[in-house]
Amino acid sequence: MTVGNLIKSIFFIEILKGLSLTLRTLFTRPVTRRYPKVERPAQPGFRGLHALAKDETGRMKCVGCGLCGAYCPSQCIYIYTTEGDDHTKEVDRYEIEVLRCIYCGFCVEACPFGAISLSEHYEYSSYSRDDLYMTKQKLLENWDNYFAGQKGIRYYHDFWRPKLEDFRGSEEQASIGRRNAT
Ligand code: SF4
Ligand code: SF4
Repeated sequence: MTVGNLIKSIFFIEILKGLSLTLRTLFTRPVTRRYPKVERPAQPGFRGLHALAKDETGRMKCVGCGLCGAYCPSQCIYIYTTEGDDHTKEVDRYEIEVLRCIYCGFCVEACPFGAISLSEHYEYSSYSRDDLYMTKQKLLENWDNYFAGQKGIRYYHDFWRPKLEDFRGSEEQASIGRRNAT
């Protein structure tokens, strides 16, 4: 033990420092928020409840390619498709078992159409497992509720790669690698 440490031990310097800190903060305002009475806005870019995006005509953007489900490490995305009358793929069911999701965001990054999103909404706890099983209908409603107007555009622009402008139509499919290569 050094002489300095010995003196500190004899005179309880560290304890006195701690007590003085306690005294200094004893009468300051507490920083604790009494949630849920006092709401706390989500941090921008927070990965919360899932939503299925709609295009400007109100149609679901998802084409049922299944990439999001393939990338999902929790394997909690279920997609059921059938062939439509004009031989296009119809997404009959798109479901997410939210209780198994780890909010990694891989599904959002994997989707070539910007069709699946993680909203900033985080207050969706429930006593029922069914409430946390997201069907296609619920996911589309989440889009209306949490991505209305410019909010969704800003969210994609600010927090996701590839960014919104990287999403292209079927002629030049979205791909960061291809975009950079041209
Ligand atoms: S955030 Fe991750 S775990 Fe959750 S559904 Fe998407 S890919 Fe799966
Ligand atoms: S990757 Fe996108 S378009 Fe493909 S199934 Fe998933 S959400 Fe739909």
